[in-house]
Amino acid sequence: MILVMIKKINLSILIIFLLLGTFWAFRIFTKKNTIVSNNSKVTTPDNSNYTPNNTDKFNKKMYSITEPTSLWFVANKHYSLPITYTPNDLIVPSVPLRLASSEQQMHLRTVLQTDLINLFNDAKTTGLQLQLGSGFRSATYQKTLYDGYVNTQGITEADRSSARPGHSEHQTGLALDFTRIDTKCHLDACLADLPEGKWLADNAYKYGFILRYTSDKEQVTGYMFEPWHYRYVGHELALEMHNTGIKTLEEFFDLGPATDYLK
Ligand SMILES: [Zn+2]
Repeated sequence: MILVMIKKINLSILIIFLLLGTFWAFRIFTKKNTIVSNNSKVTTPDNSNYTPNNTDKFNKKMYSITEPTSLWFVANKHYSLPITYTPNDLIVPSVPLRLASSEQQMHLRTVLQTDLINLFNDAKTTGLQLQLGSGFRSATYQKTLYDGYVNTQGITEADRSSARPGHSEHQTGLALDFTRIDTKCHLDACLADLPEGKWLADNAYKYGFILRYTSDKEQVTGYMFEPWHYRYVGHELALEMHNTGIKTLEEFFDLGPATDYLK
């Protein structure tokens, strides 16, 4: 009788452990799937209220670096987007625009709009005159731009300043070129010496943006200094890169230099 009771209790404990195990496995599975989405659905996390916890080790695998919709997608000369990829949440952000709002380049992804507006508002309060110079570009449009540079400068120089179709961060809808409202130093390194370029370099990370092509990292990124080109990666990563002093996505994610296209 006592033996039968013990067996029943053991069986009950086994069932409870099995149920708990299934529950945790399900939680881990669903958590993973909120991070990596498929191409047809954009589900990026809202990390605008992120506050750092110094006791936590930074999780470099929090978001995918190969899923095109991910905030951390790495586009460079080694990693490319599908040629047909277009984000499905493009909008015209409520900030000063260099071109008509109907232009493709005046679009960016919804996920960064709040941070971008805050950045523009704070820059304006500081007395700066910024506008959106260029945002999303399709691979087709990127080809037109790139071919233009090749025709005027040759391939070697073109590859230092313009991405080949599929390799541009602009196609993610998460990268933009800032320019002054008077377009002084538009797409020119001299922007770095103007108050707007300096303020962006010092403050963009507070809004989730990183300066993607810094003056000292051409040997890593394969691109010349572009003080106007910023990439939205969200608050966690922008802050972590700022705090650690790591300037490129290639170095942060240990991807190695991407100075040339893979043959
Ligand atoms: Zn750019």
